[in-house]
Amino acid sequence: MAKIVVLGSGIAGHTASAYLKKWLGKKHEVIVVTPAEYYQFTPSNIWVGVGRMKPEQVRFRLEERYKKAGIVYKHAKAVSIHPEGGDGSDRPYVTIEYVGQGKEGQTEKVDYDFLVNATGPKLRFDKTEGLGPDNGTTVSVCNFEHASHAWKKLQETIKKMEAGENQNIVIGIGHPGATCQGAAFEYILNVYHEIDRRGLSDRANITFLTNEYEIGDFAMGGAYIKYGGYITPTKVFTESFLAEREIRWIKRAGVYKVDKEKIYYETLAGEYKEIPYDFAMLIPAFSGPGLKAYAKDGGDITDKLFKPNGFMIVDADYTPKPYEEWSADDWPEVVQHPTYKNIFAPGIAFAPPHTISKPFTSPNGTKIVPAPPRTGMPSGVMGKIVAQNIRDVIKGKATLDNLKHRASMAKMGAACIVSAGYGMTNGMAATMTVYPIVQDWKKYPEYGRSLRYTIGEPGLAGHWLKWFMHYMFLHKAKGYPFWWLLPE
Ligand SMILES: Cc1cc2nc3c(=O)[nH]c(=O)nc-3n(C[C@H](O)[C@H](O)[C@H](O)COP(=O)(O)OP(=O)(O)OC[C@H]3O[C@@H](n4cnc5c(N)ncnc54)[C@H](O)[C@@H]3O)c2cc1C
Repeated sequence: MAKIVVLGSGIAGHTASAYLKKWLGKKHEVIVVTPAEYYQFTPSNIWVGVGRMKPEQVRFRLEERYKKAGIVYKHAKAVSIHPEGGDGSDRPYVTIEYVGQGKEGQTEKVDYDFLVNATGPKLRFDKTEGLGPDNGTTVSVCNFEHASHAWKKLQETIKKMEAGENQNIVIGIGHPGATCQGAAFEYILNVYHEIDRRGLSDRANITFLTNEYEIGDFAMGGAYIKYGGYITPTKVFTESFLAEREIRWIKRAGVYKVDKEKIYYETLAGEYKEIPYDFAMLIPAFSGPGLKAYAKDGGDITDKLFKPNGFMIVDADYTPKPYEEWSADDWPEVVQHPTYKNIFAPGIAFAPPHTISKPFTSPNGTKIVPAPPRTGMPSGVMGKIVAQNIRDVIKGKATLDNLKHRASMAKMGAACIVSAGYGMTNGMAATMTVYPIVQDWKKYPEYGRSLRYTIGEPGLAGHWLKWFMHYMFLHKAKGYPFWWLLPE
């Protein structure tokens, strides 16, 4: 019997554990260790943040789901990995600390044959002074609790506008190196939509504040898309969404501080500026969860498993090289640790070799460049191929040195539907596909991507599709009939 431990129950981990259990059945054990009580469909938190969905609509409890599937659920967080074993045993294990199930604070060693580290991002509000809903004054939509709080705060802002006050609304990126520009862009469009449909847009001064070099970079160096028969840069496509709504934008901005009234940022030109706000949603920097790693003799080998930002080292080419020499081949194909080959890191948990966007540094030495996105679709696909590879090794169809299923972000496409306002008759979304996610300049010398598969289309149909996808992905995540037939 093989024992597979999956750390995390987000898009990557949940996908991996569901397929592993389906394919391996009762003969093998699948254990999920996660501090989460609920699965949440993170993309729909945008709609929670504007009051169009309740947290209950975007989440479900994991315990029942895993019980039904025969997956062991440990409501705990992983603390350390011991890939060589320890205490006289060669068997690798992880140390976990319970946060629920009546065992709060208790630690346990969980041994494994295969480890899937799908711990996603830790939200690092602490990297920007004054940022975030807990110790700061800005809101977030990164999880359902934050999004629900954001909606509460947005209602206060709306009430003030209804009472005749003008309000400054700033939405965007709260750190010079943060990613998730797509989510911030979606949120600003949805906030505008809610304000506009209440007839209050004259009272709202809305600004998109971002570390992107150009609007529409989306942390993937922007793209050229086929749109209405023309080849259009995402800069024009995205700016037109903002301009049509009279939303102003500030680009190339690295936010370093927030207080109760203002957001402070440095520009790529090296100037220090500030912008006042009444309501602000700014995405924080991300890091790994801060797991430690130890060798069999107890020596600290954290730097052998993780980059300093806490993301896991995998089969990527991490050799430092200038932007001009970056290649599609730098990106990992099987998200497998190069030494401890029974450890995998799908989704946001793996350390990217470098950014996708061209990096820029201000004259003051501040790097202002978005970290690479690992969005839902690639995270799900990576979770699935990790499950396929582990299954094949267990069934003797592959070895850890010769894995067959691959999911390089430089060889896979992604579809993303950017909601621009909720509503079955007056809603709107931009449906975008890019192929590949990371540009391949060798294969596509002109635009870095295939124009056949890199497209964008705004319209009401996009909203219906996004709405449908919310239910489809929750159906899949809940393990409802034929869930495995639905795409990642
Ligand atoms: C507001 C918002 C909107 C978005 N919209 C879209 C969209 O429209 N389309 C799209 O493709 N992508 C979207 N994304 C991105 C998408 O949500 C992420 O790409 C995806 O969630 C990443 O999956 P993941 O499994 O790597 O991480 P997560 O989904 O964050 O899961 C990480 C898991 O690890 C667990 N964990 C954390 N620490 C530990 C620990 N120490 N031990 C064990 N477990 C741990 C967490 O509890 C969680 O269960 C959006 C993101 C945000 C924030």
